[in-house]
Amino acid sequence: MNYKEAFIKEITALSEANNFNMAVLEWELVTIFEEENNCICGHPIIENCEIQNKFNGNIAIVGNCCINKFVKNINSSNPFNSGKRLIKDNTRSANSSLLDLMHKNKIINAWELFFYKDILGKRNLSPKQQAKKIQINNKIIKYINRKKQVFQFS
Ligand SMILES: [Zn+2]
Repeated sequence: MNYKEAFIKEITALSEANNFNMAVLEWELVTIFEEENNCICGHPIIENCEIQNKFNGNIAIVGNCCINKFVKNINSSNPFNSGKRLIKDNTRSANSSLLDLMHKNKIINAWELFFYKDILGKRNLSPKQQAKKIQINNKIIKYINRKKQVFQFS
């Protein structure tokens, strides 16, 4: 079985629907983190996307190899790309999908979310705004880099 077949089989097995096209609609992105791991397709990954089935609560870990199958349904483009840019350079801006995810996970509060979305469109930030942005970026970076125990699926 190749990675793609394994992915389809695993996701369908963890879903309520019996066919893959319906099954992918049941999932939402819960969080992202970095750790050596395996995607449910078997592919080795560093960048983990934890997804949860909205109907039965099942959790699955999916890598960049497979997360794009969900992008249409999970309401964000892969937030890792934005997270990676921040890790390289903490003066850059997080994108909207990464900010939403961080707020959902209570890493940033509502004020920080509104503040950040407000400055996203601005060309020039005041020194105070820039300092606040970097402070928020550092929280996000710390969160993405954390270690986390994950479920193993057989
Ligand atoms: Zn995969």
